[in-house]
Amino acid sequence: MFTSLRARLWLTYAIIILLILSILGIGIFVYVIRNPLIDRQALGRLDAALAIIQRQINERSILPRDFQQYLNRISESLDIRLILFNSERETLLDSEPDSPAIIWPSDEISPQAKGQIDDQDGKTWLYSSWVMPKRDLLVLILPRQGGLQLLRSPQLRETLREDFLPAFLRAGLVAFLLAVVFAAWMGSWITSPLQDIEQASRNISNGEYQQIPLQGPDEVQALAGAYNEMIDQVRASQQSQRDFVANVSHELKTPLTSIQGFSQAMLDGTVESGPALTKAAGIIKTEADRMYRLVVDLLDLARFDAGTVVLDRQALDLSILLTHVVNQLIPQAAEARVKLSLDVDPLPTCVGDEDRLAQVFTNLVDNAIKHTPENGFVKMIARSDAGLARIEIIDSGKGIPEDHLDRIFERFYKVDGSRKKEAKPGTGLGLAIAQQIVQAHDGTIAVRSTFGEGSVFEVTIPVVKADDQTILMEKMD
Ligand code: ADP
Repeated sequence: MFTSLRARLWLTYAIIILLILSILGIGIFVYVIRNPLIDRQALGRLDAALAIIQRQINERSILPRDFQQYLNRISESLDIRLILFNSERETLLDSEPDSPAIIWPSDEISPQAKGQIDDQDGKTWLYSSWVMPKRDLLVLILPRQGGLQLLRSPQLRETLREDFLPAFLRAGLVAFLLAVVFAAWMGSWITSPLQDIEQASRNISNGEYQQIPLQGPDEVQALAGAYNEMIDQVRASQQSQRDFVANVSHELKTPLTSIQGFSQAMLDGTVESGPALTKAAGIIKTEADRMYRLVVDLLDLARFDAGTVVLDRQALDLSILLTHVVNQLIPQAAEARVKLSLDVDPLPTCVGDEDRLAQVFTNLVDNAIKHTPENGFVKMIARSDAGLARIEIIDSGKGIPEDHLDRIFERFYKVDGSRKKEAKPGTGLGLAIAQQIVQAHDGTIAVRSTFGEGSVFEVTIPVVKADDQTILMEKMD
């Protein structure tokens, strides 16, 4: 019970309203009991009565023997209790002799005073006192209407019952209904988007990936936003998985079909001996090599994805590494009749995996040679630039159309028709692996190209000052 957010909200609002009403009720009750207004009115009455008595005593010069009678009459007509004390503060007259006696404190000497005093029963009275010319003390008193005794007043009870209580209850009911409406609105404001998220999450198991509109409180909107991002990522990752499987199947199918065809021909005797057999075996070997390269590249990428690639980081001289890479590819360039040149400045020491970096630059120069027509050129330029080694591989090949540039580093992405007929057709994974390796070295890789004129692949690798041993050691860890 009351476990849902909506029910809890209702309950909370109901409790808050109840609490406010109770506090308000208690406040009003306390105010009524301690009502200073009633006290002030009563004291005013006493003052006025005393003033009348003082005037009449002064004007009419009442005879002492008529004095007691006069006071009784005044008490009766003004409905005020009058007590006369002598100078010893013994009671000479009390207009209400049956009421509990009031003992006047003998140290009270001010000629005229007012305040509160308790009778022998503990009941509180308001008084106004006057020390008369002959030092007798005249005290006018009225029972104090405040305090719990006020509740005994039938008038007050009637007022409470007929005026206050219905108005109070009506206000309470209105407040309660408003709270219920507000809680309902608040509840649906918060819970509807949450229910949308819940429903959308359930739909995922049915293969439906739906976006959720951003509504409700900021926190819930942030949750919905995060959910939408997650959905996008899941969808993209599923799509890339599907593409991946389709690409791998496609890449494997072509060499497999060749291998199947030629091995079948060898088995059923279509190719028996001599050059035909050698050619068939050669094709089978080439296609098997291609499949091997594909599997090796896939395993490499899988290890990068899983973060299990361990780079063998060492301080290395990039200029030596680049020279070595270019030297190794000179025969290939010569075969393709492409002029391969190297322009490398002395570079500061880098920290990195020599084999992996060699793999990157070999792949880039190899690509450049493959995509450059005869009599073209491939140039490697390396410069030191603000804490970076900047290496450019420039070719005069056909270039890459602008709309393909963004996707060139995607797995299996190949620009159709951009290559010459290749002895070893690529897997479309080379640039994706190169990007992973460069990024693992905190470097960048980018491409600029003008279709029909050539391409420039640019790699930057951070360098370390040779004498900065601390950083060097840190990087070696
Ligand atoms: P592959 O192993 O097929 O060469 P890569 O990932 O290395 O795959 O390259 C992806 C695609 O990028 C290539 O198929 C080619 O279309 C294009 N490409 C790469 N380098 C160049 C270049 N220097 N000039 C033109 N196109 C290039």
